[in-house]
Amino acid sequence: MTRGEVKGTFFVALKAIKAGPRNEDGIAVVKALLAARFAERFQTGEAIRAQHANTTTYIPAQLPDAVVFLESAAEVREIVAIASEHRVPLIPFGAGSSLEGHVNAPYGGISVDMTRMNRVLAVNAEDLDCTVEPGVTREELNVYLRDTGLFFPIDPGANASIGGMTSTRASGTNAVRYGTMKENVLAVTAVVAGGREIRTAHRARKSSAGYDLTRLFVGAEGTLGIITSITLRLQGIPEVISGGVCPFPTIADACNAVILTIQSGIPVARIEFLDALQMKACNAYSGLHYEETPTLFLEFHGNAESVELQSRHFAEIASEFGSTGFIWTTNPEERAQLWKARHNAYWAQKSLMPGRAILATDVCVPISRLADCVAATHEDIAAHGLIAPIVGHAGDGNFHVGLLFDDKDAADVARAEAFVERLNARALSMDGTCTGEHGIGQGKMPFLAAELGDAVDLMRQIKHSLDPDNIFNPGKIFA
Ligand SMILES: Cc1cc2nc3c(=O)[nH]c(=O)nc-3n(C[C@H](O)[C@H](O)[C@H](O)COP(=O)(O)OP(=O)(O)OC[C@H]3O[C@@H](n4cnc5c(N)ncnc54)[C@H](O)[C@@H]3O)c2cc1C
Repeated sequence: MTRGEVKGTFFVALKAIKAGPRNEDGIAVVKALLAARFAERFQTGEAIRAQHANTTTYIPAQLPDAVVFLESAAEVREIVAIASEHRVPLIPFGAGSSLEGHVNAPYGGISVDMTRMNRVLAVNAEDLDCTVEPGVTREELNVYLRDTGLFFPIDPGANASIGGMTSTRASGTNAVRYGTMKENVLAVTAVVAGGREIRTAHRARKSSAGYDLTRLFVGAEGTLGIITSITLRLQGIPEVISGGVCPFPTIADACNAVILTIQSGIPVARIEFLDALQMKACNAYSGLHYEETPTLFLEFHGNAESVELQSRHFAEIASEFGSTGFIWTTNPEERAQLWKARHNAYWAQKSLMPGRAILATDVCVPISRLADCVAATHEDIAAHGLIAPIVGHAGDGNFHVGLLFDDKDAADVARAEAFVERLNARALSMDGTCTGEHGIGQGKMPFLAAELGDAVDLMRQIKHSLDPDNIFNPGKIFA
């Protein structure tokens, strides 16, 4: 198998995960212990267990045996000690918006709901940082920060929890300017196997103190421990923000405009690509009236002068690539409407064919290859008669194809599988990745091996040495 090749293993691999062994005796003991300890905060009803398995993905749900709602780090230590002793899986749960089967329970076990650990523990405005519990959502944090003049910039489309975002190394529309969770988490505290709580770093902006355990937990998908607090970088709210919409004649023109914008060093805060079908979906879903051609949504941050300058510089680039229709505004309501439509892109895709499943892909390539990768993908979609709008964080070389397919029709499933394999192989052949921001979970496991080869063995060794009994979110990243 050459690099990037995954032949017909994608859904097969998912089925194999279902067959995972269960520690029935351990699960029964832990259920009894937790029921006695947590009373009504421990629940086993089917509806609540289903809510804690996957909600927004094509991957079938695998329900945990029970759900426990924790309220403090002390309780996390307690439950991890119990699960370690009886070797029972714990699946940390934030907002459940992850897209690759991350919160499924293939070996059964306990879903550890972190939503009640939602306190902002400290805001150090003079240092531009804060420390929060993992259940705080990104929107809650920004409401809390509003009067400080600071904001937290990472914005996945969903109102995800900071713990979940840390654990998937999430990003979103602002990452082109402010970075991803990787750049914005300064430290975490986490409870590791046996129930010990560790802190990975202090609040200093930089540190050379030993292995970078912070980065190890950022993106670990709950497989190494349960995060109990996160220290985040914050940003000053810009004096002026302008938003814009820019239609292009072709996909290549739009993507080439993005490439030149980034290469020219324009500090664009958001630059998002939507193809013609995605624009049609957004117009219909969000009541907009934009042209239904390949389009960029943009945002510029700064003062009045710099925002004006950035917009003019971008307009020149856009016209080089055949666009004459760049419109921009500093009106907050108009901007909010634009970004709400962008954040609702997934639901707009779904509304194109109600009842169909959506396979949300997530490739990311070096910026110079963006136009090639998106154009080739668009041709592939057309050649195979697929319905699959494209939307992406183009400034980072990251784009999502929302492939609509009938998950009950074997032939359609096979077509979807073949498309995803071709897409990921294309991105890897361009030195890219199968996932820019969603993570591996269950769905991307076969592609991780294709992308990183022997490095995955090293990841396994790290997992085994930190979690020898495989209690933390087993069956994710690798089986
Ligand atoms: C409409 C839509 C749009 C999206 N857009 C984006 C986007 O633009 N960018 C992006 O990056 N993602 C996006 N996503 C995906 C999703 O929002 C992110 O993956 C997000 O980071 C998940 O956070 P969550 O709180 O929902 O985590 P969950 O889904 O609850 O959990 C995700 C993972 O984190 C682990 N976890 C959760 N809490 C903890 C903890 N305290 N300790 C250890 N592990 C923990 C879980 O076990 C799981 O493996 C989108 C999803 C949807 C539905």
